Amino acid sequence: MKVSCSRKTKFIFITGGVLSSLGKGLSAASIGALLEARGLSVTFQKLDPYINVDPGTMNPFQHGEVYVTDDGAETDLDMGHYERFTSAVMGKKNNYTSGRIYYTVIMKERRGEYLGGTVQVIPHITDAIKEAVLQLDGAADIALVEIGGTVGDIEGLPFIEAIRQLRIELGRDYSLFIHLTLVPYIRTAGEVKTKPTQHSVKELLASGIQPDILLCRTEVPLSGELKQKIALFCNVAPQDVIAARDVESIYELPLALREEGVDDRILDKLGIWTGAPNLRPWKKLVESIRHPKDEVTIAVTGKYVELTESYKSLHEALIHGGIANKAKVNLLYISAEDLNSEAGLKKLEGCHGILVPGGFGSRGMEGKIHAVTYARKKRIPFFGICLGMQLAVVEMARSLAGIADAHSMEFDAATKEPVIYLMTEWVDSRTGKTEHRDQNSDLGGTMRLGAYPCVLQEGTLAAAAYGKTGISERHRHRYEFNNAYRERLEQAGMIVSGESPDGKLVEIVELADHPWFLGCQFHPEFQSGPMRPHPLFQDFIKAALDQAKGQAA
Ligand code: GLN
Repeated sequence: MKVSCSRKTKFIFITGGVLSSLGKGLSAASIGALLEARGLSVTFQKLDPYINVDPGTMNPFQHGEVYVTDDGAETDLDMGHYERFTSAVMGKKNNYTSGRIYYTVIMKERRGEYLGGTVQVIPHITDAIKEAVLQLDGAADIALVEIGGTVGDIEGLPFIEAIRQLRIELGRDYSLFIHLTLVPYIRTAGEVKTKPTQHSVKELLASGIQPDILLCRTEVPLSGELKQKIALFCNVAPQDVIAARDVESIYELPLALREEGVDDRILDKLGIWTGAPNLRPWKKLVESIRHPKDEVTIAVTGKYVELTESYKSLHEALIHGGIANKAKVNLLYISAEDLNSEAGLKKLEGCHGILVPGGFGSRGMEGKIHAVTYARKKRIPFFGICLGMQLAVVEMARSLAGIADAHSMEFDAATKEPVIYLMTEWVDSRTGKTEHRDQNSDLGGTMRLGAYPCVLQEGTLAAAAYGKTGISERHRHRYEFNNAYRERLEQAGMIVSGESPDGKLVEIVELADHPWFLGCQFHPEFQSGPMRPHPLFQDFIKAALDQAKGQAA
């Protein structure tokens, strides 16, 4: 019997097997890009099995960066891939964790909404998951829903069960299962092995899900014979075995998957007809990444430099800035703690630009200030983001305005000169509501989060970069520039080039008489994409290129 479906959106569920880090998020983003290139609209959702209600409180060391959306959600970094690869806009309804699902169910139980019934994983938790997924109905032609973790994980079971049920409710024309696995190449044997894929599909079958398409992550091309073998053992057609081969740049993945015809298979199965994809922009992009004309080295002085996933969007935004300038960007991640000595500062020699990223906590804070001093004195292009901007203000206050004890209240709550301070009361320009917070407020829920408007001052680096004076950027911070010091700092050479529309919040600062020195209170990296490089990153890299040419001359 054919199940009729009154839905507007078709759902693609993406699961992963064998091991984590195979690139499920990038695969989903790339498939989304291919479907967009065929004229379809796409949206995404990530279902994360961990118990944290959101990733906002998670250490970036463990889970990579916390990505912030326009509507102020603190989300998984896969949201960043989705937004960078497509024109989809992510928000609160695009990322759910087990914690968030359980939280809603438990709150309902407390309110007595289950009328005395026993509250269980099936159907209550699975119903809440299905409800979260089906919110996307109508948002786009296709919704790509990615289940975090690996099949077989205990905590992922309710999600797998929920999508199994959705298959029956939605029918085959409205739902599709894609499973990403690993086909390892065993060097000593000179062979690729299919057994992990077979086991992974078996595991999925044990949960009642037969994948429709297999994406096989591989470092070598997969022969037709091998695809036949995988198809036979995994109960799919050979043309539904798609090789997801390693690529040099992540932006090659949509083209690599197109070569394997994954989009044709998806549309065929979902009963959708479109013309051929327009992949010209992607081809042009890959071409320019492969053949840069120049090269620059940028130092990023942070806290989590051992794990570059912690700075995922920043990393990509710098690459995009390079693409806009036809340049290859070499990134040198330097632990800020190493910059406390002369010897350590030597690491910055030869860099054409210095970037101090956002962050929380005092580790490496003094080192970051030394990096600002170095960039200011040696006239090296400097870009400070969020905490990086705040520390640039501290540095300018101390060195240029003669406020020797200047500090941020984040690091010295009792500082006599709080140039960066905790605003206890402020008006949210988006809602008009007055917000309150103090040193004892909860860590969650007291940050300025999400997109805020900002007005730029004509004739500044910021206005030149954006080419307009009204912008909107995403925030994630607790502390702000203290206006009590504004005049003294402006007299000392600091320029306020961006403010909130009411003029109460300083959003961008610059330094007069320097080739390119800019700090912003927001996170511009969250709005950069390979096809739409962010203006500030574009101009920062341009300034670094000028620096490189100057050094070479
Ligand atoms: N820790 C600083 C604050 O809370 C900066 C935050 C950030 O860099 N994202 O204001």
